[in-house]
Amino acid sequence: MKELVGTTGLIFNEPLLWEKGAKGRIGFSLPRRDVDPCPLDDELKGDGPDFPDLSEQDVVRHFTRLSQWNFGVDSGMYPLGSCTMKYNPKTNERQASLPGFAGAHPLLPAELSQGVLKIMFDLEQYLAEITGLPAVTLQPAAGSHGELTGMMIINAYHKAKGETRSKVLIPDTAHGTNPASAALCGFKSILVKSNDQGILSPETISEVMDEDTAGIMVTNPNTLGLFEENIKKVADIVHSKGGLVYGDGANMNAVMGIVNVKKLGVDVLHLNLHKTFSTPHGGGGPGSGPICVTEELERFLPVPRVIEKDGKYELSEDYPESIGKIHAFYGNFGVKLKAYSYILSMGANLKKVSQLAVLSANYIKESLKGVFHLPYDKPCMHECVFTDKNQEANKVSTLDIAKRLMEYGFHPPTIYFPLVVHGALMIEPTETESKEDIDHFIETMKAIADEAKKNPELLLEAPKISKVRRLDEIAAARKPCLCG
Ligand SMILES: *Cc1c(COP(=O)(O)O)cnc(C)c1O
Repeated sequence: MKELVGTTGLIFNEPLLWEKGAKGRIGFSLPRRDVDPCPLDDELKGDGPDFPDLSEQDVVRHFTRLSQWNFGVDSGMYPLGSCTMKYNPKTNERQASLPGFAGAHPLLPAELSQGVLKIMFDLEQYLAEITGLPAVTLQPAAGSHGELTGMMIINAYHKAKGETRSKVLIPDTAHGTNPASAALCGFKSILVKSNDQGILSPETISEVMDEDTAGIMVTNPNTLGLFEENIKKVADIVHSKGGLVYGDGANMNAVMGIVNVKKLGVDVLHLNLHKTFSTPHGGGGPGSGPICVTEELERFLPVPRVIEKDGKYELSEDYPESIGKIHAFYGNFGVKLKAYSYILSMGANLKKVSQLAVLSANYIKESLKGVFHLPYDKPCMHECVFTDKNQEANKVSTLDIAKRLMEYGFHPPTIYFPLVVHGALMIEPTETESKEDIDHFIETMKAIADEAKKNPELLLEAPKISKVRRLDEIAAARKPCLCG
């Protein structure tokens, strides 16, 4: 099998800067002084902070080496399902760092901010066109924050009608943030089981939907990578009992320019600009999770809103039924700029993005079917889910497969999610990987399946050549060591 260059060679150790410094070393030289020295005030005298003395090269190497311990989408394929870790064109970063944007202060008056206001206004229109839902807020800083905002709006809608509803339906394939967002709005989550095809059945919804239920949160395509084919019927049932449909649009990369979300019956939808629209994510931000809503819900959107009046843009707080402000100023503006730049540079090709993302996932699904157990054997959307069932006999699990993949230079796919699939391996190749790279991934997965049969200890001991071996994953999450 083809060996990936750069995955087995040099992995540098790197001490703390404090351990590297040498007294008197310096990273710059000042020009000769041409003014008289001025004595320091007494209170400024002292030993100063305990910073190490370092040369420029010490510092550059330190941070470059540390950066190489990390794996990013700029280093290689990152098939992390449900996350859309696609390559983000650098031109969008460039537009976002133009000084006029990067230096714009959020407290500048509207007359001096016409450019940025226009961009926010236009971006809202673009997102409205992409989703089919006409009114948009760009304030939320993440998908989960969009969920919270959306559920607050659903709550406000029921309250405005004089109703209090206590429950929300959430399918068993949902991302964990869905029930968390519902709970923060005071709703009790009612778990809805998907059918043996991995999607929702209208019958199951009919059984649980009642007039104390505020609505349903549906991810479409869902986290099994399957299109919720019954979504329209499900939405009709929820609407018939006065409920609303919240759409989790984190998987929008599969359906851009193809599906009009409003026509599916969705009332509120969040988008993850940091998944679908050219902002890299991970490490906690910054992100952006705009929500798009129907005309009926527009009046509840957060303030301030960007409006246009006589060819000028301004910020308006004049929405008495608004749920209020949910982020400082207007959200993370840099992320919006990247989305704006991405959408304009792609134009009608956004549809092709989704078509290619779906094609790539189906290609992987068909190529690895049989090698790995495929629980739902039907066409998928932008991601496919396998399990470790075929490897069970050799006592090799999903975790071992993921760890071995790292030794071949791939970031592992999402594992053990969605929870409805035992030992899930959830692969999302995205539209930005070439056929050659996808073929290399497939070949690697096949080689690992082969190793699992003939040489399982290779998997059980992996990773041997990475910076860290197997971690105590619970301790790493609960008690992170942040001091080197
Ligand atoms: C990523 C994701 C979310 C949450 O988005 P964040 O921006 O990480 O808060 C919600 N639902 C699904 C299906 C996701 O994949």
